[in-house]
Amino acid sequence: MTDVERRRERAPVPKDWTYASAPEARDIVRIADRYGHYIGGDWVEPQETYTTISPANEEALAEVGQATVPEVEQAMAAARDAFENGWSGISPSERAKYLFRIARILQERSREFAVLESLNGGKPIKESRDVDLPLSAAHFFYYAGWADKLEYAFPNRRPKPIGVAGQIIPWNFPLLMLAWKIAPALAAGNTVVLKPAETTPLSALLFCDVLRQAELPPGVVNIVTGDGRTGAAIVKADGVDKVAFTGSTEVGKAIQRELAGTGKKLTLELGGKAANIIFDDAALDQAIEGIINGIYFNQGHVCCAGSRLLVQESIYEPVVSKLKRRLTTLRIGDPLDKNTDIGAINSKQQLDKINELVASGEEEGAEIYQPPCRLPEKGYWFAPTVFTNVAQSYRIAQEEIFGPVLSILTFRTPEEAVEKANNTPYGLSAGVWTEKGSRILWMAERLRAGVIWANTFNRFDPSSPFGGYKESGFGREGGRHGLGPYLEFD
Ligand code: NDP
Repeated sequence: MTDVERRRERAPVPKDWTYASAPEARDIVRIADRYGHYIGGDWVEPQETYTTISPANEEALAEVGQATVPEVEQAMAAARDAFENGWSGISPSERAKYLFRIARILQERSREFAVLESLNGGKPIKESRDVDLPLSAAHFFYYAGWADKLEYAFPNRRPKPIGVAGQIIPWNFPLLMLAWKIAPALAAGNTVVLKPAETTPLSALLFCDVLRQAELPPGVVNIVTGDGRTGAAIVKADGVDKVAFTGSTEVGKAIQRELAGTGKKLTLELGGKAANIIFDDAALDQAIEGIINGIYFNQGHVCCAGSRLLVQESIYEPVVSKLKRRLTTLRIGDPLDKNTDIGAINSKQQLDKINELVASGEEEGAEIYQPPCRLPEKGYWFAPTVFTNVAQSYRIAQEEIFGPVLSILTFRTPEEAVEKANNTPYGLSAGVWTEKGSRILWMAERLRAGVIWANTFNRFDPSSPFGGYKESGFGREGGRHGLGPYLEFD
Protein backbone atom coordinates (compact mmCIF):
# COMPACT_ATOMS: atom_id res chain seq x y z
CA MET A 1 0.00 0.00 0.00
CA THR A 2 1.40 3.42 -0.95
CA ASP A 3 1.54 6.38 1.45
CA VAL A 4 -1.28 8.08 -0.41
CA GLU A 5 -3.50 5.01 -0.21
CA ARG A 6 -2.74 4.61 3.49
CA ARG A 7 -3.63 8.25 4.18
CA ARG A 8 -6.85 7.99 2.16
CA GLU A 9 -7.86 4.95 4.21
CA ARG A 10 -7.57 6.97 7.41
CA ALA A 11 -9.17 10.16 6.13
CA PRO A 12 -12.63 10.71 7.67
CA VAL A 13 -15.34 10.97 5.04
CA PRO A 14 -17.76 13.84 5.78
CA LYS A 15 -21.40 12.77 5.98
CA ASP A 16 -22.51 15.96 4.38
CA TRP A 17 -20.65 18.18 1.92
CA THR A 18 -22.56 21.39 2.67
CA TYR A 19 -20.57 24.23 4.20
CA ALA A 20 -20.35 24.50 7.94
CA SER A 21 -21.18 28.01 9.02
CA ALA A 22 -18.20 30.32 9.53
CA PRO A 23 -19.52 33.40 11.30
CA GLU A 24 -17.26 36.40 11.73
CA ALA A 25 -17.19 37.54 15.36
CA ARG A 26 -19.13 40.73 15.86
CA ASP A 27 -17.65 41.69 19.22
CA ILE A 28 -14.86 43.64 17.50
CA VAL A 29 -17.42 46.41 16.95
CA ARG A 30 -18.85 48.50 19.75
CA ILE A 31 -22.07 50.14 18.66
CA ALA A 32 -23.26 52.96 20.93
CA ASP A 33 -26.94 53.08 21.92
CA ARG A 34 -27.28 56.57 20.51
CA TYR A 35 -25.35 58.82 18.13
CA GLY A 36 -25.45 62.55 17.55
CA HIS A 37 -24.16 64.59 14.63
CA TYR A 38 -20.43 65.12 14.21
CA ILE A 39 -20.04 68.89 13.87
CA GLY A 40 -16.89 70.95 14.36
CA GLY A 41 -15.02 67.95 15.76
CA ASP A 42 -17.61 67.32 18.50
CA TRP A 43 -20.70 65.18 18.95
CA VAL A 44 -23.79 67.36 18.96
CA GLU A 45 -26.89 65.99 20.69
CA PRO A 46 -29.60 65.56 18.02
CA GLN A 47 -33.02 67.19 18.30
CA GLU A 48 -34.75 64.23 16.65
CA THR A 49 -33.69 60.59 16.26
CA TYR A 50 -34.66 57.38 14.50
CA THR A 51 -33.63 53.72 14.88
CA THR A 52 -31.22 52.09 12.47
CA ILE A 53 -31.55 48.32 12.10
CA SER A 54 -29.82 45.29 10.65
CA PRO A 55 -31.70 44.32 7.47
CA ALA A 56 -30.69 40.66 7.95
CA ASN A 57 -32.84 40.18 11.06
CA GLU A 58 -34.51 43.55 11.74
CA GLU A 59 -32.58 43.87 15.01
CA ALA A 60 -32.39 47.47 16.26
CA LEU A 61 -28.75 48.57 16.29
CA ALA A 62 -28.76 52.19 17.48
CA GLU A 63 -30.61 55.49 17.70
CA VAL A 64 -29.18 58.05 15.30
CA GLY A 65 -29.93 61.70 14.66
CA GLN A 66 -32.40 62.99 12.12
CA ALA A 67 -30.74 66.31 11.31
CA THR A 68 -33.03 69.31 11.08
CA VAL A 69 -32.40 72.48 9.06
CA PRO A 70 -30.73 74.34 12.00
CA GLU A 71 -28.44 71.37 12.62
CA VAL A 72 -27.45 71.27 8.94
CA GLU A 73 -26.81 75.04 9.10
CA GLN A 74 -24.63 74.49 12.15
CA ALA A 75 -22.59 71.88 10.26
CA MET A 76 -22.26 74.26 7.29
CA ALA A 77 -21.02 77.03 9.58
CA ALA A 78 -18.42 74.70 11.12
CA ALA A 79 -17.23 73.67 7.65
CA ARG A 80 -17.02 77.32 6.53
CA ASP A 81 -15.07 78.29 9.62
CA ALA A 82 -12.62 75.41 9.14
CA PHE A 83 -12.22 76.31 5.46
CA GLU A 84 -11.51 79.98 6.06
CA ASN A 85 -9.49 79.70 9.22
CA GLY A 86 -7.05 76.96 8.51
CA TRP A 87 -7.70 74.13 6.10
CA SER A 88 -7.51 76.02 2.81
CA GLY A 89 -4.34 77.76 4.02
CA ILE A 90 -2.26 74.83 5.24
CA SER A 91 0.39 73.48 2.93
CA PRO A 92 -0.77 70.81 0.48
CA SER A 93 1.79 68.34 1.79
CA GLU A 94 0.31 68.76 5.30
CA ARG A 95 -3.14 68.02 3.88
CA ALA A 96 -1.70 64.91 2.28
CA LYS A 97 -0.42 63.71 5.66
CA TYR A 98 -3.92 63.74 7.12
CA LEU A 99 -5.23 61.74 4.18
CA PHE A 100 -2.43 59.21 4.52
CA ARG A 101 -3.22 58.88 8.22
CA ILE A 102 -6.90 58.28 7.52
CA ALA A 103 -5.99 55.61 4.96
CA ARG A 104 -3.64 53.85 7.38
CA ILE A 105 -6.17 53.91 10.22
CA LEU A 106 -8.85 52.47 7.91
CA GLN A 107 -6.46 49.64 7.08
CA GLU A 108 -5.69 49.04 10.73
CA ARG A 109 -9.37 49.03 11.71
CA SER A 110 -10.64 47.34 8.58
CA ARG A 111 -12.09 44.27 10.30
CA GLU A 112 -14.11 46.44 12.65
CA PHE A 113 -15.44 48.51 9.75
CA ALA A 114 -16.17 45.43 7.62
CA VAL A 115 -18.26 43.81 10.37
CA LEU A 116 -20.17 47.05 10.98
CA GLU A 117 -20.81 47.53 7.26
CA SER A 118 -22.26 44.03 6.96
CA LEU A 119 -24.34 44.41 10.13
CA ASN A 120 -25.95 47.70 9.14
CA GLY A 121 -26.12 47.21 5.35
CA GLY A 122 -26.70 43.45 4.94
CA LYS A 123 -23.83 42.83 2.52
CA PRO A 124 -21.75 39.64 2.83
CA ILE A 125 -18.71 40.02 5.06
CA LYS A 126 -16.43 38.67 2.35
CA GLU A 127 -17.41 41.63 0.16
CA SER A 128 -17.11 44.31 2.85
CA ARG A 129 -13.81 42.75 3.94
CA ASP A 130 -12.31 42.22 0.49
CA VAL A 131 -13.86 45.03 -1.56
CA ASP A 132 -15.36 47.92 0.42
CA LEU A 133 -12.59 48.30 2.98
CA PRO A 134 -9.49 47.87 0.80
CA LEU A 135 -10.97 50.19 -1.83
CA SER A 136 -11.94 52.82 0.76
CA ALA A 137 -8.39 52.90 2.13
CA ALA A 138 -6.98 52.89 -1.42
CA HIS A 139 -9.06 55.96 -2.25
CA PHE A 140 -7.57 57.94 0.62
CA PHE A 141 -4.05 56.77 -0.27
CA TYR A 142 -4.57 57.71 -3.91
CA TYR A 143 -5.86 61.23 -3.27
CA ALA A 144 -3.25 61.79 -0.55
CA GLY A 145 -0.76 61.40 -3.39
CA TRP A 146 -2.44 64.14 -5.43
CA ALA A 147 -2.85 66.73 -2.64
CA ASP A 148 0.52 68.39 -3.24
CA LYS A 149 0.56 67.88 -7.00
CA LEU A 150 -2.54 69.78 -8.08
CA GLU A 151 -0.51 72.16 -10.21
CA TYR A 152 0.90 69.19 -12.11
CA ALA A 153 -2.54 67.64 -12.46
CA PHE A 154 -3.83 70.84 -14.06
CA PRO A 155 -0.79 72.56 -15.57
CA ASN A 156 -0.96 76.34 -16.19
CA ARG A 157 -4.43 76.58 -14.64
CA ARG A 158 -3.77 77.57 -10.99
CA PRO A 159 -6.22 75.28 -9.17
CA LYS A 160 -7.93 76.58 -6.00
CA PRO A 161 -10.37 74.85 -3.62
CA ILE A 162 -14.03 75.81 -3.95
CA GLY A 163 -15.04 76.02 -0.28
CA VAL A 164 -17.66 73.86 1.44
CA ALA A 165 -18.80 70.67 -0.30
CA GLY A 166 -22.21 69.16 0.58
CA GLN A 167 -22.08 65.43 -0.06
CA ILE A 168 -25.02 63.01 -0.11
CA ILE A 169 -24.38 59.30 -0.44
CA PRO A 170 -26.47 56.13 -0.86
CA TRP A 171 -26.72 52.90 1.10
CA ASN A 172 -25.18 50.39 -1.27
CA PHE A 173 -21.50 51.10 -0.46
CA PRO A 174 -21.74 53.35 2.60
CA LEU A 175 -18.05 53.66 3.53
CA LEU A 176 -16.72 53.40 -0.01
CA MET A 177 -19.01 56.18 -1.27
CA LEU A 178 -17.91 58.27 1.69
CA ALA A 179 -14.28 57.70 0.64
CA TRP A 180 -15.09 58.54 -3.01
CA LYS A 181 -16.56 61.83 -1.82
CA ILE A 182 -14.35 62.94 1.07
CA ALA A 183 -10.88 61.99 -0.23
CA PRO A 184 -10.83 64.18 -3.39
CA ALA A 185 -12.64 67.04 -1.62
CA LEU A 186 -10.00 67.22 1.13
CA ALA A 187 -7.09 66.67 -1.24
CA ALA A 188 -8.27 69.71 -3.19
CA GLY A 189 -8.44 71.80 0.01
CA ASN A 190 -12.22 71.92 0.61
CA THR A 191 -14.15 71.17 3.77
CA VAL A 192 -17.16 68.87 3.88
CA VAL A 193 -20.65 68.29 5.25
CA LEU A 194 -21.66 64.71 4.44
CA LYS A 195 -24.91 62.84 4.90
CA PRO A 196 -24.90 59.02 4.79
CA ALA A 197 -28.07 57.22 3.71
CA GLU A 198 -30.84 56.85 6.25
CA THR A 199 -30.54 53.05 6.40
CA THR A 200 -26.73 52.84 6.68
CA PRO A 201 -25.35 55.62 8.89
CA LEU A 202 -23.14 53.56 11.22
CA SER A 203 -19.88 53.26 9.25
CA ALA A 204 -19.90 57.03 8.59
CA LEU A 205 -20.36 57.59 12.34
CA LEU A 206 -17.49 55.22 13.14
CA PHE A 207 -15.43 57.11 10.57
CA CYS A 208 -15.72 60.19 12.82
CA ASP A 209 -13.63 58.27 15.31
CA VAL A 210 -10.99 57.79 12.59
CA LEU A 211 -11.01 61.54 11.96
CA ARG A 212 -10.31 62.17 15.62
CA GLN A 213 -7.57 59.55 15.67
CA ALA A 214 -5.99 61.19 12.63
CA GLU A 215 -6.26 64.56 14.44
CA LEU A 216 -7.95 66.15 11.48
CA PRO A 217 -8.67 69.78 12.43
CA PRO A 218 -12.23 70.28 13.76
CA GLY A 219 -14.85 71.22 11.18
CA VAL A 220 -12.95 69.94 8.12
CA VAL A 221 -15.34 66.97 7.93
CA ASN A 222 -18.82 67.16 9.45
CA ILE A 223 -21.26 64.26 9.37
CA VAL A 224 -25.00 64.75 9.80
CA THR A 225 -27.40 61.82 9.64
CA GLY A 226 -31.03 61.70 8.59
CA ASP A 227 -33.37 60.93 5.73
CA GLY A 228 -34.06 62.76 2.47
CA ARG A 229 -35.14 65.90 4.34
CA THR A 230 -31.60 66.27 5.67
CA GLY A 231 -30.23 65.77 2.14
CA ALA A 232 -32.58 68.45 0.84
CA ALA A 233 -31.43 70.83 3.61
CA ILE A 234 -27.80 70.34 2.56
CA VAL A 235 -28.66 71.12 -1.06
CA LYS A 236 -30.64 74.24 -0.09
CA ALA A 237 -28.12 75.55 2.45
CA ASP A 238 -26.74 78.99 1.65
CA GLY A 239 -23.29 77.99 2.82
CA VAL A 240 -22.78 75.14 0.37
CA ASP A 241 -20.50 75.85 -2.64
CA LYS A 242 -20.62 72.48 -4.31
CA VAL A 243 -22.97 69.49 -4.11
CA ALA A 244 -21.88 65.93 -4.86
CA PHE A 245 -24.69 63.38 -4.98
CA THR A 246 -24.88 59.64 -5.59
CA GLY A 247 -28.30 58.02 -5.66
CA SER A 248 -31.44 57.69 -7.72
CA THR A 249 -32.00 59.55 -10.99
CA GLU A 250 -35.25 60.96 -9.61
CA VAL A 251 -33.60 62.67 -6.62
CA GLY A 252 -30.65 63.70 -8.82
CA LYS A 253 -33.03 65.54 -11.14
CA ALA A 254 -34.71 67.29 -8.20
CA ILE A 255 -31.32 68.45 -6.92
CA GLN A 256 -30.35 69.73 -10.36
CA ARG A 257 -33.59 71.72 -10.53
CA GLU A 258 -32.93 73.16 -7.09
CA LEU A 259 -29.42 74.29 -7.96
CA ALA A 260 -30.15 75.59 -11.45
CA GLY A 261 -29.11 79.24 -11.71
CA THR A 262 -27.38 79.37 -8.31
CA GLY A 263 -23.88 79.06 -9.74
CA LYS A 264 -23.15 76.23 -7.30
CA LYS A 265 -21.19 73.33 -8.69
CA LEU A 266 -22.86 69.93 -8.97
CA THR A 267 -21.87 66.36 -9.79
CA LEU A 268 -24.45 63.58 -10.08
CA GLU A 269 -23.72 59.86 -10.05
CA LEU A 270 -27.09 58.24 -10.70
CA GLY A 271 -28.62 54.97 -11.80
CA GLY A 272 -27.72 52.48 -14.51
CA LYS A 273 -28.98 49.51 -16.52
CA ALA A 274 -25.72 48.10 -17.83
CA ALA A 275 -25.46 45.59 -20.64
CA ASN A 276 -23.07 42.70 -20.12
CA ILE A 277 -22.44 41.51 -23.70
CA ILE A 278 -21.23 37.96 -24.36
CA PHE A 279 -19.96 37.10 -27.87
CA ASP A 280 -19.77 33.52 -29.09
CA ASP A 281 -15.96 33.51 -29.01
CA ALA A 282 -15.80 34.45 -25.32
CA ALA A 283 -14.24 32.12 -22.74
CA LEU A 284 -17.59 30.86 -21.47
CA ASP A 285 -16.71 29.69 -17.99
CA GLN A 286 -14.98 32.97 -17.21
CA ALA A 287 -17.91 34.86 -18.71
CA ILE A 288 -20.33 32.97 -16.44
CA GLU A 289 -18.32 34.13 -13.41
CA GLY A 290 -18.39 37.66 -14.85
CA ILE A 291 -22.16 37.53 -15.22
CA ILE A 292 -22.57 36.26 -11.65
CA ASN A 293 -20.24 38.94 -10.29
CA GLY A 294 -21.89 41.53 -12.52
CA ILE A 295 -25.38 41.13 -11.10
CA TYR A 296 -25.25 39.25 -7.80
CA PHE A 297 -22.34 41.17 -6.23
CA ASN A 298 -23.75 43.21 -3.33
CA GLN A 299 -27.25 41.73 -3.98
CA GLY A 300 -27.34 43.71 -7.21
CA HIS A 301 -27.41 46.97 -5.22
CA VAL A 302 -24.84 48.39 -7.61
CA CYS A 303 -25.43 51.35 -9.92
CA CYS A 304 -23.14 49.83 -12.55
CA ALA A 305 -24.50 46.25 -12.13
CA GLY A 306 -24.64 44.14 -15.30
CA SER A 307 -28.40 43.81 -14.99
CA ARG A 308 -29.05 43.17 -18.70
CA LEU A 309 -27.27 40.17 -20.17
CA LEU A 310 -26.94 40.34 -23.96
CA VAL A 311 -25.96 36.90 -25.28
CA GLN A 312 -25.08 36.13 -28.90
CA GLU A 313 -27.84 33.88 -30.16
CA SER A 314 -25.58 30.97 -31.14
CA ILE A 315 -24.44 30.42 -27.53
CA TYR A 316 -27.72 31.23 -25.81
CA GLU A 317 -28.46 27.63 -24.71
CA PRO A 318 -25.08 26.80 -23.12
CA VAL A 319 -24.89 30.21 -21.42
CA VAL A 320 -28.34 29.91 -19.87
CA SER A 321 -27.84 26.34 -18.72
CA LYS A 322 -24.38 27.04 -17.24
CA LEU A 323 -25.73 30.15 -15.56
CA LYS A 324 -28.66 28.32 -13.98
CA ARG A 325 -26.32 25.61 -12.72
CA ARG A 326 -23.98 28.20 -11.21
CA LEU A 327 -26.92 29.93 -9.56
CA THR A 328 -27.71 26.77 -7.58
CA THR A 329 -24.27 27.00 -5.92
CA LEU A 330 -24.72 30.53 -4.56
CA ARG A 331 -25.09 30.63 -0.80
CA ILE A 332 -27.66 33.05 0.58
CA GLY A 333 -27.93 33.99 4.21
CA ASP A 334 -26.24 35.54 7.23
CA PRO A 335 -24.12 38.46 5.96
CA LEU A 336 -21.60 37.80 8.74
CA ASP A 337 -20.99 34.21 7.57
CA LYS A 338 -17.75 34.11 5.57
CA ASN A 339 -19.30 31.56 3.17
CA THR A 340 -22.21 33.81 2.22
CA ASP A 341 -22.38 34.97 -1.40
CA ILE A 342 -25.66 36.88 -1.25
CA GLY A 343 -26.69 38.80 1.83
CA ALA A 344 -29.81 40.71 2.81
CA ILE A 345 -31.69 43.30 0.78
CA ASN A 346 -30.89 46.66 2.29
CA SER A 347 -34.38 47.71 3.36
CA LYS A 348 -38.05 46.80 3.29
CA GLN A 349 -38.61 49.66 0.85
CA GLN A 350 -36.01 48.28 -1.55
CA LEU A 351 -37.42 44.74 -1.21
CA ASP A 352 -40.88 46.07 -2.11
CA LYS A 353 -39.44 47.77 -5.18
CA ILE A 354 -37.72 44.55 -6.33
CA ASN A 355 -40.91 42.52 -5.75
CA GLU A 356 -42.94 45.02 -7.74
CA LEU A 357 -40.58 45.02 -10.72
CA VAL A 358 -40.20 41.24 -10.71
CA ALA A 359 -44.01 40.88 -10.71
CA SER A 360 -44.17 43.25 -13.68
CA GLY A 361 -41.65 41.04 -15.54
CA GLU A 362 -43.84 37.96 -15.03
CA GLU A 363 -46.98 39.85 -16.02
CA GLU A 364 -45.38 41.18 -19.19
CA GLY A 365 -44.50 37.63 -20.25
CA ALA A 366 -40.90 36.96 -19.21
CA GLU A 367 -39.95 33.56 -17.82
CA ILE A 368 -38.57 33.54 -14.30
CA TYR A 369 -35.94 31.19 -12.82
CA GLN A 370 -34.86 31.09 -9.20
CA PRO A 371 -32.67 28.30 -7.80
CA PRO A 372 -34.12 26.25 -4.97
CA CYS A 373 -33.00 27.97 -1.78
CA ARG A 374 -34.32 28.64 1.73
CA LEU A 375 -34.52 32.28 2.64
CA PRO A 376 -34.23 33.30 6.30
CA GLU A 377 -37.57 34.07 7.89
CA LYS A 378 -36.69 37.39 9.49
CA GLY A 379 -35.19 40.30 7.63
CA TYR A 380 -35.35 41.25 3.95
CA TRP A 381 -34.35 38.64 1.40
CA PHE A 382 -34.65 37.97 -2.29
CA ALA A 383 -33.48 34.87 -4.16
CA PRO A 384 -31.10 35.35 -7.11
CA THR A 385 -33.30 35.60 -10.15
CA VAL A 386 -32.90 35.21 -13.90
CA PHE A 387 -35.47 36.28 -16.48
CA THR A 388 -35.45 34.78 -19.99
CA ASN A 389 -37.80 35.59 -22.83
CA VAL A 390 -37.41 39.30 -22.16
CA ALA A 391 -38.44 41.92 -24.70
CA GLN A 392 -36.59 45.21 -24.79
CA SER A 393 -39.74 47.12 -23.93
CA TYR A 394 -40.35 45.26 -20.66
CA ARG A 395 -39.84 47.28 -17.51
CA ILE A 396 -37.30 44.72 -16.27
CA ALA A 397 -35.20 45.54 -19.37
CA GLN A 398 -35.55 49.30 -19.00
CA GLU A 399 -35.73 50.21 -15.31
CA GLU A 400 -33.08 49.93 -12.63
CA ILE A 401 -34.20 47.12 -10.31
CA PHE A 402 -31.23 47.48 -7.94
CA GLY A 403 -31.57 43.88 -6.78
CA PRO A 404 -30.29 40.37 -7.64
CA VAL A 405 -32.34 40.15 -10.82
CA LEU A 406 -30.90 39.52 -14.29
CA SER A 407 -32.77 40.03 -17.58
CA ILE A 408 -31.43 38.02 -20.53
CA LEU A 409 -31.78 39.23 -24.11
CA THR A 410 -30.10 38.00 -27.29
CA PHE A 411 -28.42 39.53 -30.33
CA ARG A 412 -26.99 38.28 -33.63
CA THR A 413 -24.49 40.90 -34.82
CA PRO A 414 -22.19 43.37 -33.04
CA GLU A 415 -24.28 46.24 -34.49
CA GLU A 416 -27.42 44.79 -32.91
CA ALA A 417 -25.61 44.36 -29.59
CA VAL A 418 -24.60 48.04 -29.60
CA GLU A 419 -28.10 49.15 -30.55
CA LYS A 420 -29.71 47.13 -27.74
CA ALA A 421 -27.06 48.01 -25.16
CA ASN A 422 -27.56 51.73 -25.80
CA ASN A 423 -31.33 51.45 -25.75
CA THR A 424 -31.98 52.70 -22.19
CA PRO A 425 -32.15 56.15 -20.65
CA TYR A 426 -28.95 55.32 -18.74
CA GLY A 427 -25.27 55.19 -19.71
CA LEU A 428 -23.14 54.22 -16.75
CA SER A 429 -21.30 51.01 -17.58
CA ALA A 430 -21.07 48.00 -19.91
CA GLY A 431 -19.14 44.75 -20.23
CA VAL A 432 -17.84 43.06 -23.38
CA TRP A 433 -16.73 39.42 -23.47
CA THR A 434 -14.84 38.29 -26.57
CA GLU A 435 -11.40 36.97 -27.38
CA LYS A 436 -10.84 39.63 -30.05
CA GLY A 437 -9.16 42.84 -28.93
CA SER A 438 -10.23 44.64 -32.09
CA ARG A 439 -13.87 43.86 -31.36
CA ILE A 440 -13.53 45.16 -27.81
CA LEU A 441 -12.24 48.48 -29.19
CA TRP A 442 -14.93 48.58 -31.89
CA MET A 443 -17.63 48.07 -29.25
CA ALA A 444 -16.10 50.49 -26.75
CA GLU A 445 -16.15 53.26 -29.35
CA ARG A 446 -19.88 52.80 -29.89
CA LEU A 447 -21.24 52.01 -26.42
CA ARG A 448 -22.62 55.07 -24.62
CA ALA A 449 -21.31 54.16 -21.18
CA GLY A 450 -18.88 55.90 -18.86
CA VAL A 451 -17.09 52.67 -17.90
CA ILE A 452 -16.58 49.66 -20.17
CA TRP A 453 -15.06 46.47 -18.84
CA ALA A 454 -13.51 43.96 -21.21
CA ASN A 455 -13.56 40.30 -20.18
CA THR A 456 -14.26 41.28 -16.60
CA PHE A 457 -16.93 43.20 -14.67
CA ASN A 458 -17.33 45.37 -11.56
CA ARG A 459 -13.62 46.17 -11.21
CA PHE A 460 -12.81 49.40 -9.44
CA ASP A 461 -9.62 51.31 -8.93
CA PRO A 462 -9.16 54.76 -7.40
CA SER A 463 -7.02 55.87 -10.33
CA SER A 464 -9.77 55.13 -12.84
CA PRO A 465 -12.48 57.77 -13.39
CA PHE A 466 -16.08 56.61 -12.93
CA GLY A 467 -19.29 58.31 -14.04
CA GLY A 468 -22.08 58.29 -16.59
CA TYR A 469 -23.83 59.67 -19.64
CA LYS A 470 -27.49 60.53 -20.11
CA GLU A 471 -29.66 59.83 -17.04
CA SER A 472 -26.72 58.23 -15.24
CA GLY A 473 -25.49 61.70 -14.37
CA PHE A 474 -22.47 63.87 -15.03
CA GLY A 475 -19.05 64.51 -13.56
CA ARG A 476 -16.42 61.91 -12.81
CA GLU A 477 -15.24 60.42 -9.53
CA GLY A 478 -11.85 58.75 -9.19
CA GLY A 479 -8.61 59.46 -10.95
CA ARG A 480 -7.27 62.90 -11.82
CA HIS A 481 -10.70 63.66 -13.29
CA GLY A 482 -12.25 63.27 -9.83
CA LEU A 483 -10.32 66.29 -8.55
CA GLY A 484 -11.70 68.70 -11.16
CA PRO A 485 -15.20 69.08 -9.64
CA TYR A 486 -13.61 70.14 -6.32
CA LEU A 487 -11.47 72.89 -7.82
CA GLU A 488 -11.81 76.34 -9.33
CA PHE A 489 -9.38 77.73 -11.82
CA ASP A 490 -8.19 81.29 -12.43
P1 NDP B 1 -32.19 58.12 -3.11
O1 NDP B 1 -31.73 58.76 -4.34
O2 NDP B 1 -33.44 58.58 -2.46
O3 NDP B 1 -31.05 58.22 -1.97
C1 NDP B 1 -29.72 58.66 -2.16
C2 NDP B 1 -29.35 59.67 -1.09
O4 NDP B 1 -30.07 60.89 -1.26
C3 NDP B 1 -29.70 59.21 0.33
O5 NDP B 1 -28.74 59.69 1.24
C4 NDP B 1 -31.04 59.87 0.53
O6 NDP B 1 -31.45 59.96 1.85
C5 NDP B 1 -30.81 61.22 -0.10
N1 NDP B 1 -32.03 61.92 -0.49
C6 NDP B 1 -33.30 61.45 -0.64
N2 NDP B 1 -34.14 62.43 -1.04
C7 NDP B 1 -33.39 63.56 -1.14
C8 NDP B 1 -33.67 64.91 -1.53
N3 NDP B 1 -34.89 65.29 -1.88
N4 NDP B 1 -32.65 65.81 -1.54
C9 NDP B 1 -31.40 65.43 -1.21
N5 NDP B 1 -31.07 64.17 -0.84
C10 NDP B 1 -32.05 63.24 -0.80
O7 NDP B 1 -32.25 56.57 -3.33
P2 NDP B 1 -33.12 55.51 -2.50
O8 NDP B 1 -32.34 55.10 -1.34
O9 NDP B 1 -34.49 56.03 -2.21
O10 NDP B 1 -33.23 54.35 -3.56
C11 NDP B 1 -34.21 54.43 -4.59
C12 NDP B 1 -33.67 53.87 -5.86
O11 NDP B 1 -32.56 54.64 -6.29
C13 NDP B 1 -33.10 52.48 -5.73
O12 NDP B 1 -34.09 51.54 -5.84
C14 NDP B 1 -32.12 52.45 -6.86
O13 NDP B 1 -32.78 52.10 -8.04
C15 NDP B 1 -31.62 53.86 -6.95
N6 NDP B 1 -30.32 54.05 -6.31
C16 NDP B 1 -29.24 54.20 -7.09
C17 NDP B 1 -28.00 54.36 -6.55
C18 NDP B 1 -26.81 54.52 -7.39
O14 NDP B 1 -25.69 54.42 -6.90
N7 NDP B 1 -26.96 54.78 -8.66
C19 NDP B 1 -27.79 54.32 -5.10
C20 NDP B 1 -29.01 54.21 -4.34
C21 NDP B 1 -30.21 54.07 -4.95
P3 NDP B 1 -32.25 58.69 2.44
O15 NDP B 1 -31.27 57.62 2.60
O16 NDP B 1 -32.74 59.14 3.71
O17 NDP B 1 -33.35 58.38 1.47
